[in-house]
Formats: sequence, structure tokens, C-alpha cells
Amino acid sequence: MIDAHTQIYGIIGNPVKHSLSPIIHNGVFQRLGLNAIYLAFEVNDLKKAIDGVRGLGLLGLSVTTPFKTEIIPFLDELDELSRKIQAVNTLLNEGGKIFGFNTDCLGAVQALKEKVNLTGKRVYLLDAGGAARAIGFGLKKEGAEIFIFNRSKERGEKLAKELGARYLPEFPSPRDLIPELIINATSIGMAPLANQSPLPADLLREGMVVMDIVYHPRQTKLLKEARLRGCQIIDGLEMLARQAAAQTEIWIGHKPDIDLIKEDLQKALTPPSLPSPDYGGIER
Ligand code: NDP
Repeated sequence: MIDAHTQIYGIIGNPVKHSLSPIIHNGVFQRLGLNAIYLAFEVNDLKKAIDGVRGLGLLGLSVTTPFKTEIIPFLDELDELSRKIQAVNTLLNEGGKIFGFNTDCLGAVQALKEKVNLTGKRVYLLDAGGAARAIGFGLKKEGAEIFIFNRSKERGEKLAKELGARYLPEFPSPRDLIPELIINATSIGMAPLANQSPLPADLLREGMVVMDIVYHPRQTKLLKEARLRGCQIIDGLEMLARQAAAQTEIWIGHKPDIDLIKEDLQKALTPPSLPSPDYGGIER
């Protein structure tokens, strides 16, 4: 029940209406019987939003595109990892003092380690954006050999330098430099780019592990092609569920059940099989 004691958490981003984080965190709060709610805030003025967090006493926030780096100057303290990555996806408000964390890195590494030992693995990391940075630092810590692909040379080279990785401006021919693991951290595969894959299918080989962090659709074009070619696949919900579970731990000190989070997400992403008569033919 929402009452005068309800604790408020949420996500800030722009756009944010597509976010699945409210499904995840409200599901977790309900299962724990907490008097807490998690809302989505589409933010235009970041400074005013952070003033609001302090002024209204919101306890914790997720941060998404485009604020993961822009938010840093507004925070009181960063943990070591988010300082290194220079991206924050989680805020904790303790009495007006706001701490920043990055759980994307942990979420991705945990999801990968379920299927593959990262030490010494040859990895193609597609992108050098916010999520790619978090994943890259996680891969580096695990001792992977990283190759960065990014359409902006400058950004790709910068991340490669920070990670001690190699930047490659284009994909090598299928016979050269065969990777063992491919990670798509671009937004290619997500609407409006849902009919695209970030790399040519002939690079995919049986036995490779292919992870796509795009989670909507769950089976992206890349993952469908990878499955057809005998690769092991890891979809975006695996990382999403784990980064969210790590946020819950930061906020309330409890590690929620990943499988229950994935069940909630799967339900939210599955369209109803029959149109509801209530819509009377009107498109939703
Ligand atoms: P950013 O905006 O930081 O990065 C998006 C990146 O995608 C940019 O580097 C952009 O390149 C690149 N990109 C977009 N379109 C193209 C294209 N046509 N060709 C090549 N590169 C392209 O976003 P994030 O890193 O935060 O998120 C990236 C994706 O990962 C999103 O789909 C997001 O939903 C998903 N995500 C999933 C998570 C999970 O837990 N599963 C967690 C976080 C993100 P450029 O800069 O050159 O435009």
C-alpha cells in the first residue's frame, strides 16, 4: 500500500518510457513486502533533477542514457569502479549525500561468466559507448584480450588505449583474427534498428559465444544468426537482471533472485496472445 511512509526509488534518463527497470524493481519490492515504489522520470534538466532527489529525499536511482557520465559532477562520491569507467548507473542517497556506482560492469561480467571463462579469451567488443566502457573494464579485469570496433575512430581508440586493447576500424576477413566471444554493446538490433545486425553473419562460427546487450527484442537479429550458426548465445536480459539485482543490494542490502527477475521481464516482453476485447479494435 502506498502511504506516508512509502520510500521512493526510480530511474532518470531521456527517453525513459521504454525502461524495464520499474518492472524489475517494483517486482522485487513487492516480493520483499517493502513499502517502496520505483518510478520512471524523464529528465530534461539534470541539475534540477538531482536537486529534487536531495530535496525530496529519494533513496536510490538508476541512471540511464544520456546521463551516465554527465551526472558525475553532481555527485558527492564515486566508488572506485565508476570513477575508473567514468560512468554511473546507480545512485544512493544517504541523508542528502549522493554516492555513484556502476553495476553494468558487474551485471555483464556475471552474465558472461555463467557461460564462459573470460581469462585469455579473444573478445570483439562492438562499440565504445557507455555500456561498452563498463563491459570493457570488466573484461580487462578478467584478463580477456579485447578488440574494440566503433564507428567513431576517436572514441574507439580512446577506449582501446584505456583498456590496453586494440582498436580495429573494420571487421577483419572471416579467416583472420577469429574471436572466441563477441559482445554487441551498440544499440543496433533495438528498434528502430531491429532488422539490423552489427556484424556480418559470416564472422560467426560454431562454438563462439555471442552476447547481445540489447534486450528489446530479446532475440535480436544478431542472436538469431548466431544461434543458426551454432554459437552459444547470451541475451540482454541476462545482464539487465544482474545489474538490477546489484542495484537492489546497494540500496537495501538484499540480493534478489535473478530467475524471478527474469520471469517478470519475460512476462513484460511477451505480448498477450489474444487481443483483449476491451480495446474494441483500437490499436494500443
Ligand atoms: P550509448 O548511447 O552510450 O551508446 C550507444 C552506442 O551505439 C553509441 O556508441 C553509438 O555510436 C552506437 N550506435 C548506435 N547506432 C549505431 C550504428 N548504426 N552503427 C554503429 N554504432 C551505432 O548507450 P549505452 O551504451 O548506454 O547503450 C547501448 C545499448 O545497450 C542500448 O541498446 C541499451 O538499451 C543497451 N543496454 C543494455 C543493458 C543491459 O543491461 N542489457 C545495460 C545498458 C545498456 P555513436 O556514439 O557513434 O552514435
